[in-house]
Amino acid sequence: MPAGRITPATTLQELETAELDLRAWCYACMRAETIEPLSVRAAPSTTIERLRSRLKCKQCGSKADVLIVPAKRAFDPNFTGARAVAMMFHAFRSMGKRRR
Ligand SMILES: [Zn+2]
Repeated sequence: MPAGRITPATTLQELETAELDLRAWCYACMRAETIEPLSVRAAPSTTIERLRSRLKCKQCGSKADVLIVPAKRAFDPNFTGARAVAMMFHAFRSMGKRRR
């Protein structure tokens, strides 16, 4: 699935397959967090739209001001060594999944 085709109806599983993370922004307290699609406590078939209505900011508790946007893993501005290791782990894990 090309990244440009992401819509509010795109599911967590589709994001994972496209190797996209979700970036959650809270306008209330200006907090940003990168979320791995399958680390969310929701079914893989949950859409971005549905997830947004469920997500709550961990810092200020706001629900109304949270925005979710897909983020390309390779261009993550918060990229760190630890994050690279985590990405490798997930890449291998999803490779394993495809082989099954
Ligand atoms: Zn907040």
